Amino acid sequence: MAFRETNGIVSTDGDAVAEADVIMTAAALGLAALHIAGTKSPIQFDMDPLEAGKDPTKLTFLQEAVNRMDAAVAAYLEKEGKMAGYVKAGTSPGYDPGAVIMGVYALAGQSAPSKVTAPELSVEGKKLWEKIWNDNVAKQYKGRGAYTGFVDNHNTEGDTKPIGPLSSARFVAKDSDEKLPSRWLPATENELWRSRERLGKKGDVVSWGIIGGERANNKSAAKDAEKGTNEADVIIADVKAIGMEYVGGDLTKDEIAMYTHGMIQAIYRAYHLGPSCSPYEIAVGSLTKKMASCLTCTLFMTANGYPPNSIHLGRGESWAPLFSPYYPEDPHRQPTAQEAAVIRDLNNRWYEKCLEYLQTGLKVLDDTHIAESHGKSRDAVRKYLEEHATDEKAGGALILDAVTIHDGEAERIHRTLQPVA
Ligand SMILES: [Zn+2]
Repeated sequence: MAFRETNGIVSTDGDAVAEADVIMTAAALGLAALHIAGTKSPIQFDMDPLEAGKDPTKLTFLQEAVNRMDAAVAAYLEKEGKMAGYVKAGTSPGYDPGAVIMGVYALAGQSAPSKVTAPELSVEGKKLWEKIWNDNVAKQYKGRGAYTGFVDNHNTEGDTKPIGPLSSARFVAKDSDEKLPSRWLPATENELWRSRERLGKKGDVVSWGIIGGERANNKSAAKDAEKGTNEADVIIADVKAIGMEYVGGDLTKDEIAMYTHGMIQAIYRAYHLGPSCSPYEIAVGSLTKKMASCLTCTLFMTANGYPPNSIHLGRGESWAPLFSPYYPEDPHRQPTAQEAAVIRDLNNRWYEKCLEYLQTGLKVLDDTHIAESHGKSRDAVRKYLEEHATDEKAGGALILDAVTIHDGEAERIHRTLQPVA
């Protein structure tokens, strides 16, 4: 399906940044409102306790974002009774080497353990878990935001092996790929491209979606960098050197980068193996200590019945699910029809829930709660979904588009919602 080359994500000439703010804030509000209305129990958004300890203003910032969400959701749910205080801020489980994020608990804030350092695993699963966090595996990504997915397997018949390591990997979205939903690519004249133009190379831009691409104007400070080397290309090379697989290779300027996190890969594989298999994600390397799932992973996990034990409102830069089976352990393997069907079915459930989260969140974002600066963008997102009512993938696709504008979800929520009076 051809990319929409417009200035705004949902409008010809709108503000893409404000539209991304509205889309992701609506998704978070919709998730919270539907969870609270459905279960009558709270939802909690966490930050890393280490970070909160180092810089208390960050916790204040999260608390303020959550207060704004809470006020908007409580007003929306008024008819259900008094629901204030159901959207909470907290800290995620503490980090220890080998700590995991799990996709099996009830939604964050309910029965999540304070630390998940030694999950109850099968004998083979425990061996694999130890190998991954001790980095005794052939190849895994260990840079910024590095989590490795794996699947523990308690099956006693048939396939009984655990699966992993499943590192985050980068994929290429091509507009000719029929498995993809309709995607947005900023129009050539959009000022979002400006920061992606390589230092001293007019018109030569880093492809849309690539993490770090917005630093292409900056001269690299790396010691061994050649003269004229820009920061973006250094980041791209470093991330590859530190173990991230770039599936499909380099991108042209007409393609979009997508990153699929280890937890999501683990969920497809766990689902395929059956109910006695559980998806996990382990923090690896020395840069990653936050034991919570990003909002984008959370939407997918919740849609498919594997809600995370802790959620954060940080970044899910250019996040995407898989669109084709991916076997890092055996790249030449031909997927079976059933394996392809698992991807299709889980993605379809995700599309369906994304639309529901967005439509609910857009109702929560009424005139009383939306920031004045974002009213026009909210109306544009509403109009787009109305006009694409027959496209069941439209909601999920807007979330994919919104997170190609790289920012923290708490920052977007701050900009989109009115302060609480
Ligand atoms: Zn994630």
